[in-house]
Amino acid sequence: MLISTRDGARQPCSYTEALLSGLASDGGLYVPVTYPRFSSEELVALSGASYETIAFAVKSRLVDGSIPDAELKELITSAYGPGVFDREKGSIVPVTEIEKGLFVQSLSLGPTASFKDMALQLVGREMDYELSRRNQKLRILGATSGDTGSAAEAAIKDRKNACLFMLSPEKGMSTFQRAQMEALSGGNIFNISIRGRFDDCQDLVKATMQDPEFASLGAVNSINWGRISSQVPYYFAGYLQVAKRMGDPVDVCVPSGNFGNIFSAYVAKRMGLPLRRLIIATNENNVLDVLLKTGVYEQKEARITSSPSMDISKASNYERLVFDLFQGDAEKVKAYMSEFAKTGKASLKDHGLDPSVFFALGFEGDSSTHTDRIETIRQVYTTTKIVIDPHTADGVCVGKRAKHDEVSMLCMSTALPVKFEGTIQEALGFVPERPPRFVGLEEKTQGHNFVTMSPDAALLKSFLRTH
Ligand SMILES: *Cc1c(COP(=O)(O)O)cnc(C)c1O
Repeated sequence: MLISTRDGARQPCSYTEALLSGLASDGGLYVPVTYPRFSSEELVALSGASYETIAFAVKSRLVDGSIPDAELKELITSAYGPGVFDREKGSIVPVTEIEKGLFVQSLSLGPTASFKDMALQLVGREMDYELSRRNQKLRILGATSGDTGSAAEAAIKDRKNACLFMLSPEKGMSTFQRAQMEALSGGNIFNISIRGRFDDCQDLVKATMQDPEFASLGAVNSINWGRISSQVPYYFAGYLQVAKRMGDPVDVCVPSGNFGNIFSAYVAKRMGLPLRRLIIATNENNVLDVLLKTGVYEQKEARITSSPSMDISKASNYERLVFDLFQGDAEKVKAYMSEFAKTGKASLKDHGLDPSVFFALGFEGDSSTHTDRIETIRQVYTTTKIVIDPHTADGVCVGKRAKHDEVSMLCMSTALPVKFEGTIQEALGFVPERPPRFVGLEEKTQGHNFVTMSPDAALLKSFLRTH
């Protein structure tokens, strides 16, 4: 069972209800009432298992019967079985040791080459299953600064019961990212280009969803619990590949933006996976790093960097951790979040908590600069001949710096370098080789146009009414 972080009455909500609604109606985010736990015997039983088996073992406990086991198993097999994700070394989430004790886990072998495919391929299928069971249709509204757009579109594209309206800023995405979305346009996928920034897109989504007429719109951003919960299994799969003996501690390092991926690591830890440190790697947009070090959460205007999918001004999923920091006290969560909403700043100390609470839960933070990332891409290429993308480089740079003992460090690789050719060219002097499915992408897609719109909620609403 799930509850909203802002609901003092703790009204329970099922997994599938949360899946179709995204944000709770009180503005809070859904979190589990209790976290199911794996014993070490249960972990041992999963070693050597396929990703589908691990994903089912983990997800079925989080879905908690709200999708029957047999159906959930089918959805998982369809999402992660042969055909959707590439495989390396027999796995869709292979782990490579790039230096003694320093591992990289690839999460980007899906259709759109970012880790967002890992969750969205399953979430799209779960939504479609639940909608057809209820005999309902769902319109989904989302905003993207890059990777969410194509991953969500690839996940919703062939679904019978859902359609997707995706807002993106007119400028700022890479040519490759835009071409990926263009290729998916049409049918049940509507691409809307907003004359503004990513923040304008996000504000439009919020403004529209707060209108009672559009309250039933679905969400595919990482505020949706379906996404967070679908990211938990790969931490289990990564741990099982790295740990020498079951129970050995492992540290993870996660290139972070909206606090989604790292929150999934935290969920895995709460479910009994022996993760020791949960290291949050940020880029120049270091809101989260500053928060962990000082206890002050302060929104800052996002700068465009060479790891654009982490260019955020605030981190929506942090509220899920706030709920735990305040021991599930919804009133305290509301007071803290409303101070942040009003002033763009909130200090834990003012709410009776010491910043060391993060450390006690395993969290640490650090950030990289553009120069650090370029340097890391070069180093990794020189020693291993592996080309990593700038987001992964952020994680590897921070993970390397943080590694200070024998405990293995598992860094998450969140995108393929092909999405960010310009930065790879700058670091290595050549562009990375494209997987065959992306060859000629930009040429193939001409003619699928985006609808262009001013950042005006009234315009968006009238578009939604007529499509
Ligand atoms: C979305 C994204 C991130 C940030 O993930 P969060 O869950 O928002 O922290 C990091 N790297 C890449 C490549 C992404 O697409």
